[in-house]
Amino acid sequence: MSECLFCQIIGKKLPAEIIQEDNKIIVFKDIHPKASVHLLIVPKIHIISLNELEPSNQNIVFYALSALPKLAKAQGLTGYRTIINTGRTGGQEVDHLHLHLLAGDDLPGF
Ligand code: AMP
Ligand code: ZN
Repeated sequence: MSECLFCQIIGKKLPAEIIQEDNKIIVFKDIHPKASVHLLIVPKIHIISLNELEPSNQNIVFYALSALPKLAKAQGLTGYRTIINTGRTGGQEVDHLHLHLLAGDDLPGF
């Protein structure tokens, strides 16, 4: 079994509060939310980080980004912040590429 935390969530070996899912991405609530809305948009393919992106990944990256408008609308959001942390020095804790979606009155500063 993969040791990757997010691969384990994708494979339903670990629980998560899943908001939506299809065959390419899964969206679930961050376990330690930094704002009242804090979702993680996670491609199901295991890409470690932006540093490991290859041209063949362009479809999945665009797919994950293009999920945002519908997701935001479903959450009743008109605005939100998206963050991708890369590498330990960039604040990345989980080595599986993911996009943070943060929103709410308590949105942390940049
Ligand atoms: P990053 O620091 O960009 O790698 O983000 C990883 C995020 O995953 C952090 O915001 C964590 O709070 C979140 N996280 C860690 N474990 C879990 C989990 N089991 N379920 C949901 N979110 C998690
Ligand atoms: Zn993974």
